[in-house]
Amino acid sequence: MKCPYCFNEETQVIDSRETEDQAAVRRRRECAKCEKRFTTYERIELLDLIVVKKDGSRQAFDRNKLIAGIRRACEKRPIPTEKIERAVDEIEQELRTMASNEVQSKLIGNLVMKKLRAIDPVAYVRFASVYKSFRNLQAFERELDKLKED
Ligand SMILES: [Zn+2]
Repeated sequence: MKCPYCFNEETQVIDSRETEDQAAVRRRRECAKCEKRFTTYERIELLDLIVVKKDGSRQAFDRNKLIAGIRRACEKRPIPTEKIERAVDEIEQELRTMASNEVQSKLIGNLVMKKLRAIDPVAYVRFASVYKSFRNLQAFERELDKLKED
């Protein structure tokens, strides 16, 4: 690690500790030449998740967009914000453990529906009807039956 002040290549780690949330390691380093100190952080590299849409176009996974979509379905329902965020955390975690960093938007939609089904039936039906854009009530009811069977 080069010194950011004099660009000397020889620096020494003088202290190393985990950050409070244990998500990173913080290292204090000292330059062997100018003796100035600086800090580096080591973190897990999260691969960018790519969402593949129905038409084949690709888009970076946007956590905020997902939260907004779920919030819309949960509008005026007695659902705490943290419950929504936890659901999104779990969905994101599940997506990141998959073999590929490209995920079908359909899969994300299904994961959201699964979560919402457990959280609030009204929010679930709202999300499902927007997401699936059912042509008619029968198509929607068929889908509900399918989900009930799983
Ligand atoms: Zn230096």
